[in-house]
Amino acid sequence: MKAWAVVRNNEPLECIEVKTPEPTGTQVVLAVEACGVCHSDLHFWKGSYNLGGGKTMTLTDRGVTLPRAPGHEVVGRVIAAGPNASGVTVGESYIVYPWIGCGHCDDCLNEDDNLCTAQKSIGVIQHGGFAGEVVAPHPRYLVPVGDLDPALASTFACSGITVYSAIQKVMPIAPDKPIVLIGAGGLGLAAIAMLRAFGHRAIVSVDLDPAKRQAALDMGATAAVDGGGEGVAQAIIEAAGGPVRAVIDFVNATSTAAAGFGALAKGGRLVNVGVAGGELSLSLAGMVFRAASVVGSNTGSVKDLRAVVELARSGKLPAMPVTRFPKDEANDVLQKLKHGEITGRAVLVEA
Ligand code: NAD
Ligand code: ZN
Repeated sequence: MKAWAVVRNNEPLECIEVKTPEPTGTQVVLAVEACGVCHSDLHFWKGSYNLGGGKTMTLTDRGVTLPRAPGHEVVGRVIAAGPNASGVTVGESYIVYPWIGCGHCDDCLNEDDNLCTAQKSIGVIQHGGFAGEVVAPHPRYLVPVGDLDPALASTFACSGITVYSAIQKVMPIAPDKPIVLIGAGGLGLAAIAMLRAFGHRAIVSVDLDPAKRQAALDMGATAAVDGGGEGVAQAIIEAAGGPVRAVIDFVNATSTAAAGFGALAKGGRLVNVGVAGGELSLSLAGMVFRAASVVGSNTGSVKDLRAVVELARSGKLPAMPVTRFPKDEANDVLQKLKHGEITGRAVLVEA
């Protein structure tokens, strides 16, 4: 099969030929119909992460070998299934849960694969949706698309569950108490949609780009703050009408985490989601006096995926903006994402 793959970091993806998967055991092979392009694909293409303190983590440290087709927001049509893969229908379309765990640790047995320390994620450790086909190791990782739009549904596999899981970490918060979202890209807009599905009415969005701030307001944010320059914490506090109980940082760089933490009220919580990277310096006694918490949030579980799909089916989840691109434009799309030219999510589709 053909795969748009990272062959060398920071160099254009190449369309290469890789072995067409043949399913064994419980495996299911799906022909990719739609694949959302997440900023994590861009980090993957670059090949390293800023861990703060002058340290970096490379893809090799994460067990990745190249060439590898990225893409973890996949909707695909089942084309083949192993002899022990029951409950899937050949020809039907499914959202593929990508954050596959080892399958036998306590977290995997609890369907919390995203907490497994031996992940074999699709689009990271195995070929993802930038390839023609993907392999799900078991039907339990598949959720039927039904009559949802496949391009929008593909985004649920990462952005949808990531924002769902991050929002769970700050709830319960009364619907009229502000929740601050730093970053109004794919995740930030998905989070506004999710908060609206939960009936939340006070949402402050922070972004550097005026066009992204406008997109956030269009999506339903109640205020938008310029995240550039000095005094961002104070600008957030002013826009929110006071210090806040919840900030979710979809950028999570040294400057944004400091601004988000600085805007917290007593008892407030900062959730780290983005992986721009850097570090946050905390006063330990200050943490106690402010009863503050800082918590990392790593994607979501297949249970979260089912919950997000149910919300979408109920009609409560507004659609975030998605723009379809032919898969052959994968390189251009990565560049557009890198340069901030995508509003919401770009989704690669078969031409
Ligand atoms: P995106 O490129 O679609 O959006 C990023 C947005 O952040 C853009 O609108 C950009 O203008 C804005 N931004 C950049 N720097 C900023 C700053 N200093 N202040 C305010 N706004 C700023 O990216 P995305 O797909 O939404 O992903 C966001 C981040 O989340 C990425 O780092 C991605 O790798 C990460 N991510 C994490 C998880 C997880 O499980 N924790 C899951 C998916 C993605
Ligand atoms: Zn992602």
